[in-house]
Amino acid sequence: MTIPYGRQDITAEDIAAVVEVLGSDRLTQGPGVPEFEKSVARYCGARHAVAVNSATSALHLACLALGVGPGDVVWTTPITFVASANCALYCGAGIDFVDIDPRTGNLCPEALARKLEHAEKSGTLPKVVIPVHLCGQSCDMKAIHALAKRYGFHIIEDASHAIGGRYRGGPIGCCLYSDITVFSFHPVKIITTGEGGMAVANDSGLARKMARLRSHGITRDPAEMGGPPVGPWYYEQRDLGFNYRMTDLQAALGISQLGRLDRYIARRQELARRYDRLLADLPVQPLWQHPDCRSSWHLYVIRLRAEELRVSHRQVFVNLRRKGIGIQLHYIPVYRQPYFQRMGFAPGQFPEAERYYRQVITLPIFPLLADDQQDLIVELLARELDRP
Ligand SMILES: *Cc1c(COP(=O)(O)O)cnc(C)c1O
Repeated sequence: MTIPYGRQDITAEDIAAVVEVLGSDRLTQGPGVPEFEKSVARYCGARHAVAVNSATSALHLACLALGVGPGDVVWTTPITFVASANCALYCGAGIDFVDIDPRTGNLCPEALARKLEHAEKSGTLPKVVIPVHLCGQSCDMKAIHALAKRYGFHIIEDASHAIGGRYRGGPIGCCLYSDITVFSFHPVKIITTGEGGMAVANDSGLARKMARLRSHGITRDPAEMGGPPVGPWYYEQRDLGFNYRMTDLQAALGISQLGRLDRYIARRQELARRYDRLLADLPVQPLWQHPDCRSSWHLYVIRLRAEELRVSHRQVFVNLRRKGIGIQLHYIPVYRQPYFQRMGFAPGQFPEAERYYRQVITLPIFPLLADDQQDLIVELLARELDRP
């Protein structure tokens, strides 16, 4: 039996909610999606929310709504899932990376400031910066927002890990320091809709634009048309959009899951504190938690203190996986992927990301992980690190 690094929790209540939609008239484009949008917007204190079929789609629509296109460049962190970078490429824009703060693994505001200074001189400032709240801990949004004001770029928060997390007393997603925030509802994330994502924003223009692009660029709102509608059948395609819609089946699951979000976060926090205690005497360093942040604990990441170990990072992976512990590595730096190497990125360009990649391990954490399973994980890890 393998303990995975993350897993969904589906209750009888969730199943009943989905089954109810299956028996209804509208499997998609029904009332469930706007209801889910309102609930998420309310939860995270944003004015508007646009539900889509994945966070990847939400990132793409967010970039388009902010006008990203050919000739522009978007910056993100190298320590993220590839989707945080690909969204810029879908728009025909360029992508570049900003090195991380080794303590948190998040995009480093000082490295960002230095890079912006150079970019200003060479006329290559980014149109959008996409900070990623790694593991559920917010980036230093206040610092990044101050730089956005000074250099005139937009901010999309990739909060795929972070629904339910908090920053400086406010919920992640309130968009106090950004234009748009994006959540993922993939089954390994905090709450799930099977596949699914959402973009939240306070600007109604951005939200309307994303809502239109989600469904082919089509509008039925007379206010968005070139003139009065010519008949009751009428709709207009105003832009080239996509079919990125979320179904009502997914929305029903999402609404049901959202009702347990706070309980999920509380259990994840409890497990994280337990890990902190259980790992205290091992030659490992959990990612540092900034006092301004309350993580959603999507992931629990440790760095191996390699210099104190006789076993290699790679060997720890091989051995623990063989023993049924589904440890993971979040993430391979994006620029190391062959596709990005072909674009001219070189390993070694982002030294903190490289060091991080050589040292980190993600330990299993999810609401249904039992205390005794967690004890077993730590025991096996300790044995691997030769420090029983
Ligand atoms: C999971 C994830 C995504 C993509 O989410 P999907 O809903 O699977 O498209 C994007 N960014 C980050 C940081 C993620 O972890």
